[in-house]
Amino acid sequence: MLRIQEKEVYSHLSHIARSVASQSRGLVVIPSRCLVCGYVFDRRKRFTRPSRCPRCKGERIEEPRYQVV
Ligand SMILES: [Zn+2]
Repeated sequence: MLRIQEKEVYSHLSHIARSVASQSRGLVVIPSRCLVCGYVFDRRKRFTRPSRCPRCKGERIEEPRYQVV
């Protein structure tokens, strides 16, 4: 939708998170999930997509999604 590259999105997300916080809004992160075993990367601090699952070592990882509320 924003017509920018995926990797550019990540560089903007930290700024967006601060910006929405100052407006009493929030950035909700819907975490990545392993499509093989269902492991949820809910403790991940960084915004980038994990490359493999720590539990099953699978590489089919759903991309995290972000929503401004
Ligand atoms: Zn897995």
